[in-house]
Amino acid sequence: MANLIVDPRDQKFVLYEMLGIEELCKSPLYADFSRDMFDMALAEAEKFATTAILPALAEGDREGCRLEAGSVRVPKSFHRCIQIYREGGWGAMNVPAADDGQGFPHVIGLAAKEWFSHNTAFINYVTLTEGAAHLIEVYGTEAQKKKYLPKMHAAEWGGTMALTEAGAGSDVGNLKTKAVRQPDGTFRLQGTKVFITAGDSDLMENIIHPVLARIEGDPPGTGGISIFLVPKYLVNDDGTLGKRNDYTIGSIEEKMGLHGSATCTINLGDNGECYAELLGEERQGMKIMFQMMNGARIGVGVQGLSSASIAYLHALQYAKERLQGASLMEMKNPAAPRVPIIRHPDVRRMLIWMKAHTEGFRALLYFAALCVDRCNAAEDEAEKERYGGFLEILTPICKAYCSDMAFRVTETAIQVYGGYGYCAEYPVEQFLRDEKIASLYEGTNGIQALDLVGRKLGLRKGLYFMTLLGEMGATVAKYQAALPDLAPDVQAAVNTLAETAMLFAASGKAGKFLIPVANAYPFLMLMGQVVTAWLLLWEAGVAKEKLGMPDGGGPDKAFYEGKIATARYFIKHVLPEADAAAKAIKSEDLSMMEIADEAFAS
Ligand SMILES: Cc1cc2nc3c(=O)[nH]c(=O)nc-3n(C[C@H](O)[C@H](O)[C@H](O)COP(=O)(O)OP(=O)(O)OC[C@H]3O[C@@H](n4cnc5c(N)ncnc54)[C@H](O)[C@@H]3O)c2cc1C
Repeated sequence: MANLIVDPRDQKFVLYEMLGIEELCKSPLYADFSRDMFDMALAEAEKFATTAILPALAEGDREGCRLEAGSVRVPKSFHRCIQIYREGGWGAMNVPAADDGQGFPHVIGLAAKEWFSHNTAFINYVTLTEGAAHLIEVYGTEAQKKKYLPKMHAAEWGGTMALTEAGAGSDVGNLKTKAVRQPDGTFRLQGTKVFITAGDSDLMENIIHPVLARIEGDPPGTGGISIFLVPKYLVNDDGTLGKRNDYTIGSIEEKMGLHGSATCTINLGDNGECYAELLGEERQGMKIMFQMMNGARIGVGVQGLSSASIAYLHALQYAKERLQGASLMEMKNPAAPRVPIIRHPDVRRMLIWMKAHTEGFRALLYFAALCVDRCNAAEDEAEKERYGGFLEILTPICKAYCSDMAFRVTETAIQVYGGYGYCAEYPVEQFLRDEKIASLYEGTNGIQALDLVGRKLGLRKGLYFMTLLGEMGATVAKYQAALPDLAPDVQAAVNTLAETAMLFAASGKAGKFLIPVANAYPFLMLMGQVVTAWLLLWEAGVAKEKLGMPDGGGPDKAFYEGKIATARYFIKHVLPEADAAAKAIKSEDLSMMEIADEAFAS
């Protein structure tokens, strides 16, 4: 393998052999594209990743960000990365051609991001810009679009998302930042935002912050929140930069990882002059910001995929090179030659566990991105709702399951390296440090689980969830004959998932609402495992078909056999954990609620 970032063979397998994304090119929206164009874009992404983004990873970690005279300085190597990013037009890859973008399908944009997102510290500067630009595309006035979008699409101006305050983390509705209405229709903000990623940098000449705040007199809670655009430099009518806006960067956080990413405290309006423009309608701030957050949650899933992928490929290479111990067959012979650790069953167990999870995340995230494209290209409302429904229900799984399990993949990589993995001289400990944040930002994974159980399962009276169950059942039926040892296990797990959701619904009706609330996280992980088993079964079914062809899979025979072995490992060794989780939930035990606060420790 030429690189240790992404397995390009698996990437192509998911895109073309499993998901058949060339079908998209039949839709008028993507008619100008072809597989060759997709492959070219991904080859460029690989080149960019291997020559600039990966080399900047360890350097960015060592150098970190500095706050000098109120301005953030990012690691030097990030300047080269952003230059290449701009020249390659990566920031406008998914922007429609009508808006001067390249108009690629989202699934190709996400596959490109998989190449980049192992360096989340860098990539956050540009993905937040793209998310903020997309908000303006959808909710901005024509004047706002004209003023901000061209520079943001070109990655010359940055963007952020500014929700969090010291007393308003998970509880966004508690925010205190105040917006004061001006006679000319603009606003002035006052308040302090904390933890704002890319809140300042010397990569961009201007930064446009979408900021949540409450207009004076509006009601408390999330329903009273509006969203504003707060530029670092005001923009004159002719597009040139005007005066510096009235906000300051109070500090940047010292963090466990992601050292190249500036996490800023922003003090808005110390002089009462922090200029802000309303985005969209008043008191619609949460609804509008949710659009950016949903995209960002998929992005956090991609961070997990990339972290898992780079960790797995490094561990695999190390396991092939590191000599330690003798073969199991020659344990008693002290003169036996030392073997690479990949020969040891326990190391192979760790590697196949990492491979199964990494490839499961890839299939899940690419499927989710394809749902966006299928929605955009849908010819009727039913198709739009079908794919939109998959996306709704799978977003918390993409965010929380992928980030939590990816963290464990990075941890397992350290285990494969042994003691060297714990040392900064080797790269894997950074992968773990950088990945941990993914379970926390964009809404903690506990909050994602509450969103799944409290809101998403019941959307359209459960229709989206039921449609997903049906889709999984259809895959099982399709591959029942080809994979008789695996398909029934997956169907049984799908049934368990359905029964557990029904138990939640019945508990809610019976007034036992603590059952779903206290078990939301185990349910999310259970669902993540069932969804992964479904996708890996689908992959194994495709691989089986390829092996059944006259050439027996040709030069890819080992690859296809590996797909089946990986699915089998997951279904036989990991999927049974879903049964255990369901059993625990069904017990209706609420000891976590019954234990008194003072009984947690004396
Ligand atoms: C490096 C970094 C970058 C960030 N980037 C940004 C950014 O760009 N923009 C931005 O706006 N914010 C950003 N954040 C903030 C981040 O989104 C918050 O940290 C996160 O939402 C959690 O809020 P909190 O830290 O206040 O934790 P808390 O809300 O205090 O949560 C603490 C714990 O309690 C749990 N909890 C809280 N409320 C509930 C509840 N109702 N039910 C069940 N469990 C609950 C949580 O799940 C968590 O386990 C960033 C944070 C970090 C560390």
